[in-house]
Formats: sequence, C-alpha cells, structure tokens
Amino acid sequence: MRFKPRPFNEPAGFRCLYCLDCCRGRHIYLTLKDIERIARAGHDPQDFVTFSIEGDKVRFVLAVREWDLGCVFHDPETGKCTIHKVRPLICRIYPFMVSRKPLGVEGEKPFHYKGKELWLYYDESCPGVNADEPETMITPEEIAELGLEFEEEFERTDIEGFAELLAGLEG
Ligand code: SF4
Ligand code: SF4
Repeated sequence: MRFKPRPFNEPAGFRCLYCLDCCRGRHIYLTLKDIERIARAGHDPQDFVTFSIEGDKVRFVLAVREWDLGCVFHDPETGKCTIHKVRPLICRIYPFMVSRKPLGVEGEKPFHYKGKELWLYYDESCPGVNADEPETMITPEEIAELGLEFEEEFERTDIEGFAELLAGLEG
C-alpha cells in the first residue's frame, strides 16, 4: 500500500478497519529495541529480520512473505497484526509519519516539538483516520514523540548492536 501524505496538524479520530492490504508491500525499518521486544515475545530473529545495505550502513528491515509481500506477522485472512502488542515502532506510528523536511504537500506546516522542527502527515489511503465512531484520538504531540523516539533508536541501531543482542538472547 503506498503512503499518500496529507498534513497532520490537528488531533484526529482513528479506528482501525483491518484492511487486508495495509501490511503488504511496506518497507518497515526495525530498531534494536524492536528486534529485542519481538524476539522476547517468542519469535526467532532469523524469521523476521532481513538486512538492507544503505551506503556504509546495514539497516534491519521486517521480513515479508514471498507470495504476497505481506509482512510475516500479518494475518492475510483477518488483516490483523499477530504481534500487535510488540509491533515495531514504525507500525505504531502508522498511519502517520514524521519528517524532518516538508514533503511539498498542500497545507503542510512545521510542527515544533521539544525544540525540533518537524512535519507530520497521515496516510490518506488509510480509511481509519477520521473514520466514523473513532476508538481513539491521535494527537500531533504523540506522533511527534514516537517519531523522535524512532529517530534516536534508529541512529543507534547497527550491526555490532545486533550481534550483542543475539548473544544476549542466547545467553
Ligand atoms: S489502512 Fe488504516 S484502517 Fe486499514 S488496516 Fe491499516 S491502519 Fe487500519
Ligand atoms: S508487524 Fe504488524 S503492524 Fe507491522 S507490518 Fe507487520 S503485521 Fe503490520
């Protein structure tokens, strides 16, 4: 599913409708904390972590099934996430996103949070944003907080940390 960014400047109601395609064809970066949390919930990193070389960095990416490019934790029959409570930070942020630069979308404006200038968006292709009978309200502040948390965790995620994490899980 392709992210169609729309500016997110005000709190929005949200209710997940469990669309079947939501978790297919997405490139989800994992932080070391994500990998550890999911592994401690009983999943072998070999089954859900893949590697991507980007410049001189190794990045960790959530594995997908070959047959439909669905995330390995996505239930194709119900559209639900089978690791909802321990899902990666990026999945907790979705259907929103945090950018350090404007994307050039009409109506966007900077959001200042904790001394940082951020641009926040939601995915117009997600029908859960502003859905009828919302289950929760999502605020720009909470998305900005998660975005900064991801940035910090992503920055310190590297191959050495991954090796240490695997050793810790085995020990
Ligand atoms: S697209 Fe939105 S409503 Fe549909 S499953 Fe994904 S998060 Fe939920
Ligand atoms: S971990 Fe869960 S929410 Fe994230 S892409 Fe996979 S199925 Fe979707």
